[in-house]
Amino acid sequence: MYAQGITQDIIDRAKAFHGHWCGGLALGIRAAVWAVENFGTAADEEVVAVTETDMCGVDAIQALVGCTLGKGNLLFRDTGKIAFTFYRRRDGKQRRIVAKLRGGEVKSRILGLREELAAEGLPAETRRRLDEELAELRKKDLEFVLSAPFEEIFDIKPALHDMPGMAQRLPTILCENCGEGVMSSRIVEQDGRQLCMDCAEK
Ligand SMILES: [Zn+2]
Ligand SMILES: [Zn+2]
Repeated sequence: MYAQGITQDIIDRAKAFHGHWCGGLALGIRAAVWAVENFGTAADEEVVAVTETDMCGVDAIQALVGCTLGKGNLLFRDTGKIAFTFYRRRDGKQRRIVAKLRGGEVKSRILGLREELAAEGLPAETRRRLDEELAELRKKDLEFVLSAPFEEIFDIKPALHDMPGMAQRLPTILCENCGEGVMSSRIVEQDGRQLCMDCAEK
């Protein structure tokens, strides 16, 4: 009863990469599977992703779409939103998907339970009961994320920014203070010296 395109194998691959199973990863899996269906996988730099979150979900993008930090086709733009923009170089196709706030009873009850559990001096029996209810609700929420139609999980919008340029190989310059090699675009000019970011801050 997973949504179309979601399989146990896909879930397992994302889990293996991320290291644990969680709601954030489930959301990322939906985004990643949608991206592969609509943009293909990111062999070389064909598909570029801009992630607005550095939390769990982005690992599914790396594991399943093939956009990775090291290849230069995954960029982090820290807006604090669970949103991903995908671009395809070949034809300029682009879309930004933004996770919908899952309001609803389940989500607000989860928040309520978390608050109750944070209280001090809770009797052990009460704590156990609340923990159980929380686990059950989390499971429900996860099932919803993995089975609901994509449009109920993410809004699909146009990209907010132009496609990022190709990853560039820039010359290395030695910092005049510590002598470590620095990519030229990160060199800071200070009092006529070429410094790395850390030495310039001192
Ligand atoms: Zn996680
Ligand atoms: Zn330095």
